[in-house]
Amino acid sequence: FGQDESGRSAEGGGSYVRVAIEQGVDVTADGLTYAVPEGMSVGVGQRVRVPLGRGNARAAGVVLACTSEAGDLDPAKIKPILEVDVSAPALPGDLIELARWIARYYVCPLGMVFGSITPSAVSKGVGSTTRVEVRLAGEVSGKLPRVQRALVEAAGADGGWVERRVLAERAGAKTLGPVAKLVEAGVFEVRRVDAIVADPVAVAEAASTERLVLTDEQRLALERLIAMGEGGFGVGLLHGVTGSGKTEVYLRLIEHLRGQDPGAGVIVLVPEIALTPQTVGRFQARFSDVAVLHSGLTQAQRNAQWHRVRSGEATVVVGARSAVFAPLARLGLVIVDEEHDGSYKQDQLPRYHARDVAVRRAHMAGALVVLGSATPSLESLHNARVRPSYERLRLTERPAGMRMPRCEVVDLIEERRSRRGIHLISQRLETELRLLIEGAGGVRGQAILLLNRRGYASHIACPDHGCGWVKTCDHCDATLVFHRQDALPRGGVARCHHCGAEQLVPETCPDCGKRVTLFGWGTQRVEDELEQKIPGVRMIRMDSDTMRAHGDYVAALERFGRGEADLLLGTQLVAKGLDFPNVRLVGVVSADTGLHLPDFRAAERTFQLIAQVSGRAGRGAEPGRVIVQTLNPDDPTLGMAMASDYEGFAERELELRGKLGLPPVARMARLVVRHRDLAQCVRLATELTQALEATQQRLGLDVRIRGPMVPPIARLADHHRQQIEVLGSADGSAEGLQRVMTALRNQGRLISNTTLAVDVDPVA
Ligand code: ADP
Ligand code: ZN
Ligand code: ZN
Repeated sequence: FGQDESGRSAEGGGSYVRVAIEQGVDVTADGLTYAVPEGMSVGVGQRVRVPLGRGNARAAGVVLACTSEAGDLDPAKIKPILEVDVSAPALPGDLIELARWIARYYVCPLGMVFGSITPSAVSKGVGSTTRVEVRLAGEVSGKLPRVQRALVEAAGADGGWVERRVLAERAGAKTLGPVAKLVEAGVFEVRRVDAIVADPVAVAEAASTERLVLTDEQRLALERLIAMGEGGFGVGLLHGVTGSGKTEVYLRLIEHLRGQDPGAGVIVLVPEIALTPQTVGRFQARFSDVAVLHSGLTQAQRNAQWHRVRSGEATVVVGARSAVFAPLARLGLVIVDEEHDGSYKQDQLPRYHARDVAVRRAHMAGALVVLGSATPSLESLHNARVRPSYERLRLTERPAGMRMPRCEVVDLIEERRSRRGIHLISQRLETELRLLIEGAGGVRGQAILLLNRRGYASHIACPDHGCGWVKTCDHCDATLVFHRQDALPRGGVARCHHCGAEQLVPETCPDCGKRVTLFGWGTQRVEDELEQKIPGVRMIRMDSDTMRAHGDYVAALERFGRGEADLLLGTQLVAKGLDFPNVRLVGVVSADTGLHLPDFRAAERTFQLIAQVSGRAGRGAEPGRVIVQTLNPDDPTLGMAMASDYEGFAERELELRGKLGLPPVARMARLVVRHRDLAQCVRLATELTQALEATQQRLGLDVRIRGPMVPPIARLADHHRQQIEVLGSADGSAEGLQRVMTALRNQGRLISNTTLAVDVDPVA
């Protein structure tokens, strides 16, 4: 149904609403129809409770539209709304529109998208004490319905202000509708005692607000972005090497925009892990009305921040993935920093990509988007080449005085040949670390070491290759990782990185009785080795085992920033966004960990990781240096990453993807079928594949269907898995893909649930 027949609000008696149910029910895009009972008024975007299914269970949902038409339904059979949730603010119309796009494009239930758009802290009203109170104000004229009469009597008995719900309860009213009627009739007056409990987010210690003089490249990029913004929607891909001052460009752009249009809303998305007080502080130091949204907030803080945005008190929102849904009244600009970062893709329902949603939202609002990165995703680079609305802007140098670090490679095979024993830290890296930490050049420096694998050893296995026994998970087809824990027998535990299950480590091989051996490297083992090699070294290990909460991460970085540690050792957590001027050395302990993963993006990820971590070096007056250890010194990806040759890498990789018909040249959706029973799993996957093929042929679409095939992890948490890939046409259009998926969904065959995961534009 179109806009013309759907109003923005409805009154009880003969009117209907269409409701999207919040819990995973894949209703049609238009929602389910409910009647508005007598005495109730309800508007688009409001949260309501409705009866659902045969058992009439109560479900929460969002009103999509109000209408006087019952459509094809028999009005007598339409169930009524039970209650309007007045504590949750109504969603603005543009977010409803955006949600519909997400539900369609990512093939997920619309109600579930609403669940993501409004944080649960907000819908539950955590920390808020908003009270709506009423009192008698005017005369009653004429005869009132029974419930309203009871309300008036109850209010009269009370005399003063009384909370609306309390009054309704006293009068035996089931809903708040009759209270609203009396307010409208002027019998009651109403006031909101609005108290989202003040639980402010601490303002970071003022970052330097000194005004830098922009470099020529920064100035040109800024001017171009300003010009683009004047034309409405557009996407600027700000491709600037690490440390080139992209953030300064964002800040100036926001300043300019707000100079022109003070009320314009701005969203700044950063990867969750980069939401440190330093990052936030840079924005807070420039703008007085910044709201922050990230996982480190308490529920009450999150609610309070959200309301600051909703009420217009804050118009600059800095946040992680879900901040793309910030309820700004009027969007003027969206910035997606580190746009290549995988954390922008949500890995559970709804599986949206915040960067792509940001572009969509900006398109709907006619706003400018800036995607910033030193290593743009190939998706964005490709878009910049083929789409007229995109434009790439380059920052090729760091500001004056700061040079790009020098990179050298250490061949680990050579190292093993020339040295006894197994060393994770090569002679070369060890020497450089010592010189730096001892302050040989006059100043003590700091170092960052990357090994993108946590735990102690990646394999627990029989030393006899002929035997070949390896400890695997009981629940997954995956090997277990040894995590050191001194208190345990044999000094550690075998842990599955996929399902989290833990097992004791056997002393001997169950097949042949030899003593089991630990193979492979993890951050714990590197930590051990460094303690032995450089006694007294002050080290912070940063991986998801040591950094359980956002606060741990922030505290660790503060310690490092104060110089209380010489070395920051960790997984990809240490590669992102850090800006410490005293870091003069970056070591990549093994550049090979991600290189040969069974994933078509393995090379792209490795390139990004090496280039990003290298970029942490040399951000102060002293030049930086990078040492990359590898078993594959001739690998072209590593070579190009070390030479910061993004163009060369991207050219080669895009050509390859084009030849193979893979993203970003062609679009992809991945469907994973899961079942405890292998035969059932295969049967379901085969049927789904056949249905996809039949649909594709019937509609005559240029879409390739591959599978069913066994994914890299064939069994996960006791579920067998089969996957199907649907690939779009070579012109990069998403249309064919979307039409096949929509057709299947309309047949009820493509719903994400416990046996099927649909992932459109998968990143992992
Ligand atoms: P990026 O986000 O591109 O990695 P940043 O914005 O973090 O880079 O900038 C790196 C460093 O350079 C920061 O310490 C910043 O204050 C500084 N900087 C940025 N622009 C300039 C400039 N025009 N002149 C001097 N220093 C600058
Ligand atoms: Zn497991
Ligand atoms: Zn054995």
